[in-house]
This record gives sequence, C-alpha cells and structure tokens, in this order.
Amino acid sequence: MAEQALVDKVQAMVGREYGRVYAWDRVNAPMIRHWCEVMGITNPLYTDSAYARDQGYADVVAPPGMLQVWCMGGLDQENFPEGSSTENNFEVLKVIEPYGYPAVVAVNSDLTFDRQIVAGERLYFTSRLDSVSEEKTTPLGTGFFVTVLMTYFSQSEQGEDEQVGKQLFRVFKFKPAQRPENKPDAKAEAKAIKRPLPGVSDDTRFFWEGCEAGKLMIQRCKDCQTLRHPPAPVCSKCHSFEWDTQQASGRGELYSFVVMHYPEVPPFDYPNPIGLIELDEGVRLIAGLVGVGPAELEVGQRVEVEFARFDDQQTLPQFRPVAQ
Ligand code: ZN
Repeated sequence: MAEQALVDKVQAMVGREYGRVYAWDRVNAPMIRHWCEVMGITNPLYTDSAYARDQGYADVVAPPGMLQVWCMGGLDQENFPEGSSTENNFEVLKVIEPYGYPAVVAVNSDLTFDRQIVAGERLYFTSRLDSVSEEKTTPLGTGFFVTVLMTYFSQSEQGEDEQVGKQLFRVFKFKPAQRPENKPDAKAEAKAIKRPLPGVSDDTRFFWEGCEAGKLMIQRCKDCQTLRHPPAPVCSKCHSFEWDTQQASGRGELYSFVVMHYPEVPPFDYPNPIGLIELDEGVRLIAGLVGVGPAELEVGQRVEVEFARFDDQQTLPQFRPVAQ
C-alpha cells in the first residue's frame, strides 16, 4: 500500500498546468522531407508544394505524426528557445521517487489532431498533469501510472492562437518486482500463471482452429489468390472481401528474430527466442522458436512448424530449425 502522505501530495498536483515550450523553427519543408525519407512516406502533400497548393493548402503539409517533433529540445536535452517554460512537466515523478519507486518506463502515447499543420506555422505546447493512478501492481512492479497531456498551438501574428493537436503521454513510475529467484515460492506461482489467450474474431478463427487440428492455415483471397497473414477482412491487393484458406507446408526460413531476456514475465521461459518466419508460400508470421539456443540462431536458417499445447487450453505453432 502506498503511503497516504504520498497519495495526498500527488493527488494535490493533478491538474497542475505547465507553461509554454516553443519550437526552435517554424514548420518547414526540409525537416518534413527528412522525416518523410526516414519514415518511408511518399505522400506529395508533404513534399510537393505545387501539389499541396492544388489541394487548397498554402504550402506543404506536415505529416500529423510529426506533431511532437516541432517542439523538441534538440540533441541537448531540455534545450528550448528563449521564453520557454523551464518547469519540468513530469515533476511529479520526482515527488514519487523518494517514496521507494525508482524505476520509470514509458507506457503509451496518444496523438489527436485538430487540423493539418502547414509549413510556415510556429508551434508551442503547454502541459497539464492529467492524472496519477492509484497504486497498481503489474508484472514489472508496483507503482503509479502518470499521464501528462500536452496541447499544441499555432502562434498567430494577429488574433488568437489556434489549438492544432494534443499528445497524451503516460509513464509507469514503479518499484521493480523482485526477481523470481529471490522468492522461494515464485517458481510455483509463475507456473500457475497461464499464457494469455489470443483475441479470436471471425477473421482469425480459422487460424486458431487450424492450430488445434495441427494445421498451419493461411488466409487466401478468393479473387486474386494472394495469401495474407496476419488475417484481415480485405485483400490488400485487389480489395476483395472474399477469402478462403490454404494449408501451409509449415516449412520456411528464419527471416528475422529477437531473443527476449528481460523483463521475465511468467509463464514464459527465458531467454525466449521469437522468430519472424518467412513461409515457403511467401507470407511471414511470428512464432516462438524451439530446439535452438539463442547463440545458434541465424537469419536464413530453415525451420519447420510443430504444434505445442499450453495450459490445456490453446495450441500454438512453434518453429524448429531443420537441416538445410
Ligand atoms: Zn485479392
């Protein structure tokens, strides 16, 4: 249980507002072009001013996803243009920390956009401590979800500044959970935790039913025969809603992989190798890798599917390396 003094202090801070943080530069075409190059975005609305004018804009439009970019401090952290607030909009973390919650992890961020932003505009944001949750326990540890809401404005030369978007940013400020080996009964506790079940919909049921039957089923467009995975309601090639399925050979190669080390979330075994498999049929899927040590994994190695039953409630495809 969190100390009442901490809870009181923190709740008294909720709603606190933090001043303006200005952008170093006006929204501009070179930064937009660089961002689009990095992200692989080719929409001419962002890079071709003549095209943007044809669409009714004064100049190129900034991709909405860039909202946060304009008011960033640059390479030196907390380096903002003159006139910017020097307050720390996450100061509540410093209040929580001395009560025994040293760790922090970003949880999620939601962006909302009020309108398109066009080259030439100058932005700033203000922040508000939106909420601090009650103390929660997650597999990572015990602590508080802290949510800060940043509101972005376009500065007006004359008249009122206009709100252009919002960014909600949530972090978890926590006391890390003890590593399982420090707790004598942790192994037994971890065993009792079951694997999370997949969300099953009309579009994905065939896949999970296939697994139960020991078959790796792939969705196929009825009109153009294109295979797709993960399952989706519509063909990305011909936009047909008609589909059936095909049983895959179950053979393919390791296209890429990661090895999960930390945090160790029960009931999974660690290190936990996870592969992106390119099936011989051409589609890729993500699955656990078995029968191979993390150091022996190699991109391009041949793998074959096998099915394993977990918790007496679900069957999952796994891939095992096979001879070339
Ligand atoms: Zn199709």
